[in-house]
Amino acid sequence: MISHKQLFLQNTAQTSSFPRLLEIERAEGLYLYDIEGKAYLDLVSGFAVSSIGHRHPKVIEAIKNQLDKYLHLTVYGEFVQAPQVLLAQKLGSVLPPTLSSVYYTNSGAEACEGALKLAKKYTNRSHIIAFKNSYHGSTHGALSVMGNEYYKQAYRPLLPDIEFIKFNAFADLERITTQTACVIIEAIQGEAGVQVPDVLYMQALRTRCNQTGTLLIFDEIQTGFGRTGKLFAFEHYNITPDILLLAKAMGGGMPIGAFIASKTIMDVLKENPILGHITTFGGHPVSCAAALASLNVILDDNLMEGISEKENLFKTLLVHPKIKEIRGKGLMLAIQLDTFFNVENISKQCIENGLIIDWFLHCDTALRIAPPLTITTTEIKKACEIILQATENVN
Ligand code: PLP
Repeated sequence: MISHKQLFLQNTAQTSSFPRLLEIERAEGLYLYDIEGKAYLDLVSGFAVSSIGHRHPKVIEAIKNQLDKYLHLTVYGEFVQAPQVLLAQKLGSVLPPTLSSVYYTNSGAEACEGALKLAKKYTNRSHIIAFKNSYHGSTHGALSVMGNEYYKQAYRPLLPDIEFIKFNAFADLERITTQTACVIIEAIQGEAGVQVPDVLYMQALRTRCNQTGTLLIFDEIQTGFGRTGKLFAFEHYNITPDILLLAKAMGGGMPIGAFIASKTIMDVLKENPILGHITTFGGHPVSCAAALASLNVILDDNLMEGISEKENLFKTLLVHPKIKEIRGKGLMLAIQLDTFFNVENISKQCIENGLIIDWFLHCDTALRIAPPLTITTTEIKKACEIILQATENVN
């Protein structure tokens, strides 16, 4: 009989020549279990998705309840769907008043696409500022604002009028002018290997955007929903973006994203042309029900409490001559090593020893730590032991 692995390689699209090829049978809380029943502690959360752990009972319950009512009804923005409006109401209650209008998408890249269109339409400008080493998704618009030529070169021409400036560099802020529609920035650069900007820099960026009438788009697709110790990372900087991008952890494991702005800004999608942004599945009722349940878990269980202690524990335990630095905020951390060879070697050993760990798109010399926020002290110690042992084994 043909194995699942063979089918995977033959009949599902491949995005690299060296996939991990781990076949998982089920997942629960902090652990994944393979087809032999071997447990893996998840230190990546499916790339910052499973922040409340895998298959949280409250999320499963919300999904089941919605399954008994309806699935897809019609395209986005026509019928009143309770899961969509209740989630938007909840998001409104935890966001500043100017972030009150939610447009749901299926993914992070789609949130980025919608936000770029919204900013161009609202400002009637086309110049966009993005950042070196940024990542906002893989669709054409999102790829156009990605700050890494290696991933873009084969797909040109991309969107015109995009300029890349240096992250966290005050001098470059002058490149934002009255011609600039928007600046799109990650609240903390993720795929660059977790680069945390200065608070004063983010505040200066906000001021410059105010001076030039430029919309500030914050991509919180990785940082959102408690990962950095605050519900949203913009709270660390005491500023409010004009457009907020969410996805990944939003759905508690279900696919959903959003771009969120003021009603005044969002309303430009209604006219000239009508239906300025359309999606069939965006805001799927099952995903919205799961997202509301997930957000309630984060808030009711106070999952952000203790994140900085967990961050400190990782930083205290992961000491080794081969580890150059541990960077990041909350449970969005990078272990800086020296070579990709060592990163890959350590990752493989970790997986063999029951720990899921990975690297970053623009920084393949560092290992990613992004576990579910529910990780315990015992599991942090266990993970660090496995990482240190693997680090000791490499040259
Ligand atoms: N923005 C950031 C900061 C991301 O990390 C990602 C995905 O890794 C995206 C956008 C794209 O999200 P998606 O993969 O859901 O399209």
